[in-house]
Amino acid sequence: MSLEIANLDVSIEGISILRDINLSIPQGQMAGLIGHNGAGKTTLIRAIMGLLSATRGSIAFKGQDISKLPSHRRANLRISYMPEDRRLIPDLTVSENMLMPAWANNIKDGEERLKWVYSLMPEIADFGERKALQLSGGQQKLVALGRALIPGRELILLDEPFEGVAPVLARRLSEVIADLRAEGLTVLIAESDDSHSADLVDATWRIERGSVSAGRKDPSASLA
Ligand code: ATP
Repeated sequence: MSLEIANLDVSIEGISILRDINLSIPQGQMAGLIGHNGAGKTTLIRAIMGLLSATRGSIAFKGQDISKLPSHRRANLRISYMPEDRRLIPDLTVSENMLMPAWANNIKDGEERLKWVYSLMPEIADFGERKALQLSGGQQKLVALGRALIPGRELILLDEPFEGVAPVLARRLSEVIADLRAEGLTVLIAESDDSHSADLVDATWRIERGSVSAGRKDPSASLA
């Protein structure tokens, strides 16, 4: 199993946000996390990444309990996160934005990894020297995905990757995500509905008011 979450509770400032979450994703599979705004998708992703701490329960990655590890240690295990807002630095070029996590985490082969990202998404190599602020919102999403792939290439957590992306780029983003699965990555895609992820994922989980249950594609079927 790549990711295995058991009985997870998360509170923010004393308010209970996630309750008794049980969710797992087998290695190399893609799962959807579907829920309305405010359901708890971002909170769950941030908890997996170690940006929020659990008040109860466990998070295991490839059999290792990571619930107490700080987020940089989880990143070192090659877990990465594409936030919902793109958070690119507008005045830096596309390639500088993508190399930021390599610089921040002292990753020596950042340039090599960047080449891999460019081979996956040749279109961003074409605007690699442009400043991030010159790109459209959809192009910025591709760059944000590329940046998430620099530190982590095992488990990638995508928070609403299709949100606000024009249809042509959304199709392209779907292709790239399918390519990631083909490369053997494990992927979790959060979406408010499954309009983009339905055809991509092996299983879906529904999140509603901080609780998770099996979705339209029953995860227990993919675990069998
Ligand atoms: P969205 O797409 O709107 O971000 P989401 O499913 O990702 O939705 P979360 O952002 O995880 O939902 O929010 C889940 C719940 O936690 C919401 O009710 C939200 O108001 C609450 N919440 C999130 N962050 C905080 C915070 N810092 N303080 C208090 N409540 C918070």
